[in-house]
Amino acid sequence: MIVCKFGGSSLADEKQFRKVKAIIESDSRRTIAVVSAPGKRDSGDEKITDMLYQCNALAQKNQSCRPVFDKIASRYIGIAEALRLDVSRLTAALDEVRQNIDAGRGTDYAASRGEYLSGQLMAQYLGWQFIEPAECIVINSDGTVNPLSYERLANLISDGGHYVIPGFYGATEQGVIKTFSRGGSDISGAIAARAAKADLYENWTDVSGMYAADPRIVPDAKVIDEITYTQVRELSDVGASVFHEEAIAPVIDLQIPINIRNTNDPDAPGTVIKATSEKSGIIGVSAKGGYSKLKLRKLMMFKRPGMRHAMLTMLHLYGVRPSFSFFGIDSIVWYFESSQANDSVLTSMIDRLKKDFRLDYVYYERNHAMLGIVGGHLEDDTSFITACAALRDAGIKINNVNYGSSNATTLIGVNDCDAKRAVEVIYRALFS
Ligand code: ASP
Repeated sequence: MIVCKFGGSSLADEKQFRKVKAIIESDSRRTIAVVSAPGKRDSGDEKITDMLYQCNALAQKNQSCRPVFDKIASRYIGIAEALRLDVSRLTAALDEVRQNIDAGRGTDYAASRGEYLSGQLMAQYLGWQFIEPAECIVINSDGTVNPLSYERLANLISDGGHYVIPGFYGATEQGVIKTFSRGGSDISGAIAARAAKADLYENWTDVSGMYAADPRIVPDAKVIDEITYTQVRELSDVGASVFHEEAIAPVIDLQIPINIRNTNDPDAPGTVIKATSEKSGIIGVSAKGGYSKLKLRKLMMFKRPGMRHAMLTMLHLYGVRPSFSFFGIDSIVWYFESSQANDSVLTSMIDRLKKDFRLDYVYYERNHAMLGIVGGHLEDDTSFITACAALRDAGIKINNVNYGSSNATTLIGVNDCDAKRAVEVIYRALFS
């Protein structure tokens, strides 16, 4: 059987609901649908989830959420009317949600209602059974999936019927509604795929798969036909954002393949994400900006066991958690997200580091980016040399390189202002 998850753009209006139904009905193996809240109908539009967060913000200021909620209500009513669904039932559900938001049920409750209402409508439209995620999906306080979820959901679907499950939310072990991080319906879909022991998890969105480079930077970038779980995580880590990287964990043990598909082009095969791939060579390049770089040096540093660990502990005290590390014999470069610490925090941190560790020097720089070239068996692949040569020819400064620590990724640190051009230059050098 197939679990299919439909993202917000696939449910933005009644036309999209119709496409979803046609997709589901074109393959009888599709028996569980996980749905997001309606997304943007065009670039000027608002996502229902964003508006629900606004409603909650108004309620927190003791103001009625009505002005924003009315816009939400009219979108759902428009869909229900066009699809000839039961509008009076929907109106009652909308009233209840609005009153609960105004009564201060909180952020997660408000945000979750987009998926809840979408699920109610889709269940009615397909004539499928609605499953309430708060009764089966358990989310830990740190936002991770509690494994209890798989068993609870498996029990609810054990009669092998047809089900619609709203994405993005579940409940804490105490039964209080809780959401995943943004884009979290991908995680709900993965939980459903695991609970149902699905043969395939289809993730329907508005692009025809994962691209070898961000198409906003390289408009003619190719779609990746096949990629491994590890490679997806590595590409997401450096900015590729088609699929929520935390959605890999639930399906990895059972090795359920994931197929990214396009609701607006259902014949396109999309991208298959699976456990292993025979393919070697480069499959994608991506870059993520917004990093700061901390550089420090001390002669004979690595003669002192535990020093690196002690420095990291101090960084943590100042809220700095490095994402990437580069080591030399007497020096370290750590990249961390710039939003983690402002200039005055970093200045005090540097003073402490200097004093406590008697460093030769330590300083930080803003506006860095990390570029990842992702592929298979990269330890046997020298295309990163081609990539570096292309960057040099384009006059792009390379700040750091990490080749060989991961079979799946070569990392290249560049200045933020060069990141997009670097992606394009490397794509042209390696893929054209
Ligand atoms: N509706 C939620 C969001 O906008 C979750 C999702 O679409 O996956 O983040």
